[in-house]
Amino acid sequence: MIKLKNPEQIQRMKDAGRITGEALLVAREAIVPGATTHDVDTAIRRYIEKCGARPTFLGYCGFPAAACISINEEVIHGIPSRRRVLREGDIVKVDVGAFYRGYTGDSAKTFAVGKVSEEAQRLIRVTRESFYAGVAYARGGLRIGDIGYHVQSYAEQNGYSVVRAYEGHGVGEELHEEPGVPNFGTPGRGVRLYAGMTIAIEPMVNAGTSEVRVLSNGWTVVTADGKLSAHYEHTVAITEDGPILLTDVGE
Ligand code: MG
Ligand code: MG
Repeated sequence: MIKLKNPEQIQRMKDAGRITGEALLVAREAIVPGATTHDVDTAIRRYIEKCGARPTFLGYCGFPAAACISINEEVIHGIPSRRRVLREGDIVKVDVGAFYRGYTGDSAKTFAVGKVSEEAQRLIRVTRESFYAGVAYARGGLRIGDIGYHVQSYAEQNGYSVVRAYEGHGVGEELHEEPGVPNFGTPGRGVRLYAGMTIAIEPMVNAGTSEVRVLSNGWTVVTADGKLSAHYEHTVAITEDGPILLTDVGE
């Protein structure tokens, strides 16, 4: 069942979304060579709690941290650790949600640690741009396949692949609501979009194959060929006036 939100509920999601977006600004500051992914997670958790919110991911299906932090060939669901040290040249995906007054945000960005290769910079940029290519179609009367088609086309035209095994989703009172929002699709196909829907659009773009596998810890998803992957996600409200990015607090 798709849970439509009224304008008051969307306003409340904006508050949860702002804290979520700000937590990523905190993460960006904490991402320096020599820091551990545990350090980054701690900074995020403290910020969210200081705002009077709760880290949505902490305890979700047993996840042990406030944020998913995934390095280089890790796609999503990396577990923060005191033993994972960030090194110059790494790219780091941070995925986070803040639960505040009954609603959650969900947002992810890919950060460079110090100076990274031009190829890594390009992957990060194209992944971000593929989100914007897709969100332009998050409009009432269109369909889920319109969003996915444009995310996929943009990424593939730039020589990359989109992950198919994981996808975006409805978001609101729950972190994962209906419908699923794949990063591929066919224009005019799939669930119809309505004003009041709130969805997480989240391209996961790989430099090589689209195939992924899960590590033996049961969480961390990595590219099957070991090549780099990038992630970019916002919580988006579909309104009569077009899409609103609820987790966008600036880059
Ligand atoms: Mg997320
Ligand atoms: Mg998500």
